[in-house]
Amino acid sequence: MSKIKSIFTYTCPRCRQTKMYKEPFEMSKPVEMNHSCEVCGQRFEPEPGFYYGAMFISYIMSGWIFVGTALILVFVFKWSFEAAMGLVFVFAIITFFKLMRLSRSMWIHFVVKFDPQYAKSINS
Ligand SMILES: [Zn+2]
Repeated sequence: MSKIKSIFTYTCPRCRQTKMYKEPFEMSKPVEMNHSCEVCGQRFEPEPGFYYGAMFISYIMSGWIFVGTALILVFVFKWSFEAAMGLVFVFAIITFFKLMRLSRSMWIHFVVKFDPQYAKSINS
């Protein structure tokens, strides 16, 4: 599994065998994570406030995506400003949790290195 795929499927950054988030998804606890990986023991919240930086990733991503979408709708497709903002707002609500989870996943994948040792132990 590639790093990119691992980020998008929210798997353990170290062994890429288990899921980081509790499943099934619950609206009231959108980013509730498992404590640690069952395969390699990687903790999914290594220290308190670990995901503080992930918030910035999600702000930056959502900023670019939403502002970009609005600008394209207004200037390329000649939508009215209100219509474009309305669509972006709906879009933001739909993607809010997704972006929050994704940015946390990106964050821990930046910090924790992939360890092929663990991946191998499963496949062999
Ligand atoms: Zn693991």
